[in-house]
Amino acid sequence: MKVRFLGAARGVTGSCYMMKVKGVRFAVDCGLHQGNSEIEKRNWETDIYDPEKIEFIMITHAHIDHCGLLPKMVKNGFRGKIYATPPTVDLLEIMLKDSAYIQEMEAEWKSKKRSRHGRAGDSPLYTQDDVEKTLGLIKAVEYNEEFSPFDGVNILYKDAGHILGSSIIEIRVDEEKDKRVKLVFSGDLGRPNQLLVRNPSYSEVADFLFLESTYGNRDHKNEDQSREELLEAINYSYNKGQKVIIPAFALERTQEVLYSLYLLYKEGRLPTDMPIFLDSPLAIRATQIFSKHYRYFDAKTREFFKAGEDPLRIPNLKLSETPAQSMSINSLEGPAVIISASGMANAGRVKHHLRHNIWKKGASIVFVGFQAKGTPGRKIVDGADTIKILGEELAVNARVFTINGFSAHAGQSHILEWLSNFQNHGMKVFLTHGEYGTQKILAELIKERFGHEVHIPDYLEECELKADRIYETISKVQSESFKVNWDYVLNQLENQVSELRDNQSHIGSMSWSDQVELRDEVLEAGTVLSRLLSSVVKKGSSQEKGNYKS
Ligand SMILES: [Zn+2]
Ligand SMILES: [Zn+2]
Repeated sequence: MKVRFLGAARGVTGSCYMMKVKGVRFAVDCGLHQGNSEIEKRNWETDIYDPEKIEFIMITHAHIDHCGLLPKMVKNGFRGKIYATPPTVDLLEIMLKDSAYIQEMEAEWKSKKRSRHGRAGDSPLYTQDDVEKTLGLIKAVEYNEEFSPFDGVNILYKDAGHILGSSIIEIRVDEEKDKRVKLVFSGDLGRPNQLLVRNPSYSEVADFLFLESTYGNRDHKNEDQSREELLEAINYSYNKGQKVIIPAFALERTQEVLYSLYLLYKEGRLPTDMPIFLDSPLAIRATQIFSKHYRYFDAKTREFFKAGEDPLRIPNLKLSETPAQSMSINSLEGPAVIISASGMANAGRVKHHLRHNIWKKGASIVFVGFQAKGTPGRKIVDGADTIKILGEELAVNARVFTINGFSAHAGQSHILEWLSNFQNHGMKVFLTHGEYGTQKILAELIKERFGHEVHIPDYLEECELKADRIYETISKVQSESFKVNWDYVLNQLENQVSELRDNQSHIGSMSWSDQVELRDEVLEAGTVLSRLLSSVVKKGSSQEKGNYKS
C-alpha cells in the first residue's frame, strides 16, 4: 500500500493523497494549488496525477483547495466516481462553476495581453464544460454509512465539523488474512463549538493518521467574543451614519457572519433600521444550499429551522445579485452593513465598497478571516495609512476591526485534544496542510505528549505503508529542482536594462507622450525593485542580528 503526497505537503493548498492499495489507484481530495506562480504551475502538471488511471476520488469538503482540480482531472481522462457527502455534492457544483468562470476570465485576460504582443492565446485550466462532465461523476455518500468501492476496502465518512458537509475519511484495508490496516484522513478539522456545524467526530483507532496542521502553532479566540466585536463595529458606524464593510469568503464564513447577526437580532441588540446587504452571487447560492441542508447543522441551529425560522435570513437582509444592484448600494445614504467577497479584498465586488468607504471617518472595515501576505486585506490589517484599490490611492480613515474567532480550523489545543481520542499505540502520524515551521512545532508536541511517530512529508514524496505499522519513504524528489536560478533571473534583468540603453536614441525620437508613458512604466518597475530590495535588506540584517545573539 502506497501513498504519494501531491499537494498540501509543507504547504496548505492543493490537497491530494494519491493512494495505491491492492493495485488500485485512488485519491483523497484533488485540490487547486494556490499561491505563487511556481506553486500554481502544479495545476498544469497533470501527468503526475495520471488521471486516466485513477479509479475513484473521495472529496473531504467543498473548499477549492480540496476539490478545485477535479475538472482538470476529468479534462485529462479521469472517468471514475467522485464520492462526497450530500451537502458537499451541492456545494461542489457552485464552487467548481465559479472556479471555471475565474479560469476562463483569467485565460481571456492573458490572451488579450499576449495578442497585443503578437503571441498565441492562453487556454483556461478548465471550462464550464469540464465542470458539467465532472458533476456527472459525483456520487453522494452519507456520513457514518460504510461502503466498499472494491473488495477488501471499506470507507466511512464522518463529520469533520469544519464547514457544511466536511468529512473525516476512514479507510479500512484488509491486506491479507488477519492483516487489517486502518487509515484516517482528518481533512480540514473544525473546532469545537463552532457556529452552525457540529463538533468534529473523532476516531479511536488508526495505524496511519493523515492530520491537517494549519493552526498547529496557535489557538483562536472564541466566537462569543467575536460576536461582541462585530456588534461594536456595527454600533460604531451606525452612530456615525456610516457603513460597515465585511469582506468574507462566500462559503461558511459568510453564513457564520449572517448567523451571528441573527443571534444579535434575536437578542434585540441590532439596530432594526440598518439594512444588511449580502453582495455576492456565490455567497447567496451557498447560503441557499446551507438552508436546504439544515439537518446537518448542530442542535442549536437545527432548532431554529424546526421552529420555522431561517437563522441565515435576518429580516432586514437584502440580497444583491446583479452588478447594478451592487452598485446601487454605493448611492444609498445612511448606515448599512455590506457583506461581500472576496475575503481578502483582493478580488470581487468588495473592492468597490472599500473604494467608496475606506476613506470615510465613521465607516468600519471588519475582517473575519485569514489575510494572506501581499493582499490588500493584509495591508489594511497591518495598519497601512493608505491603500491602492482599483487604481486609486486611498486614505484609510475607517476603523479597522480584525475578528479572528471565526476560524473554521481547529487551533493547536483542539488538534491535541482530538488526538487524545486515539486509544491505540504505534500510530504513525503524517502532518499535512500546514506551513513547515508550524508543522515542526506541532510534531514536537505530538511526540512529547503521545509518543507517536510523526513524519512531515514533502511535496511528491511517496511512502510505503505496511500492515505491521511501519512506513518507509520510497521516493523523494530532490529538493534541487525547487531551487530558484538566481543567476539566470539577474542576468535577464541586466540584459533588459542594457537593451533599453542600446535603444536610447530610438526612444528619444519617440513622441513626447509615448516617452512619458514609457518613462512612467520604467520608473514603476524601479519602484517594485526598490520595495523588494528594502524587504530583502531588512530580512538580511535581522537574520545577521540573530546570528550575533547566538
Ligand atoms: Zn477547508
Ligand atoms: Zn484546506
